[in-house]
Amino acid sequence: MVSQPRRTPRGNAASSAPARTTPLARPTTGPRRSGQSEIDPSKDLIAEVGRKFAKRALCVFAHPDDLEFSSGGTVAKLCAEGWTVDIIVTTSGNKGTKDPSVTGQMLAGEREEEARNAAAILGANEPVFFGFHDGGTSNDDELRALIVRHIRRTRPELVITWDGFRPGFNHRDHRVAGQATYDAIYPSSDDHLYYPLDKEEGLEPHRPAAMLLAGGGMAATPTADYHVDIGGHFRTKIRAILAHTSQMGGRTEADMVKMYEERRAQAANNGEDPSLPPLRESFTKVIFRR
Ligand SMILES: [Zn+2]
Repeated sequence: MVSQPRRTPRGNAASSAPARTTPLARPTTGPRRSGQSEIDPSKDLIAEVGRKFAKRALCVFAHPDDLEFSSGGTVAKLCAEGWTVDIIVTTSGNKGTKDPSVTGQMLAGEREEEARNAAAILGANEPVFFGFHDGGTSNDDELRALIVRHIRRTRPELVITWDGFRPGFNHRDHRVAGQATYDAIYPSSDDHLYYPLDKEEGLEPHRPAAMLLAGGGMAATPTADYHVDIGGHFRTKIRAILAHTSQMGGRTEADMVKMYEERRAQAANNGEDPSLPPLRESFTKVIFRR
């Protein structure tokens, strides 16, 4: 018997406690016939997915500002190109302050509000917060069930999440979010025997077409093989990052632009590939067969 834990995520009115007996409205995914759904790996992934399937993306990150730092330019670009972008944040970032008068609950509320503001700047939908404690997530049945449910509800064709497999220094919640999302897509989300209670809400199995694993913005992981030129959306990314005011220590837009320019200069001096877009976000591509 497959157990199916139930949590009630916060945020996003569309997802808050739907009546179990009411089928949720689902976006259409367009016609999909065998042989027509394959992604051509030699072509630009986002353009390919957008051309062949519904322009729907789901971002799964661990903390309220993860998306903006790692993928904010890419999400701004998707939104500008007509994609619908949903966001899951597994924790509310309720740790990480040196102010002894601030409680975890206060910080979580503040950071959720900042994430809502940032999502609005990017053009994405209001984030859904799973509400796990910062530092307390595990790649377990509870987290995977929640991610699967959102995949079945929002039916994304592109999923963006942390690269949960990259070696070296990484935050536990980042690793967990990346691995749980990978595991939720394969094998769970497209198999009706996983989390069968979803069916009672009218949620059908679904497998996205592709996934992008983020390694940390311009600092590409060794496996990064997909580089999004965010030149046209850089200022939007910066503004979305700055919406996380509790984390930014009073930095201004000019400070952030200067920081990125210094990083670019450093990367150029270190002999980076000159064919890469100077302002970019780098990912590892995963294309799913279905
Ligand atoms: Zn984080």
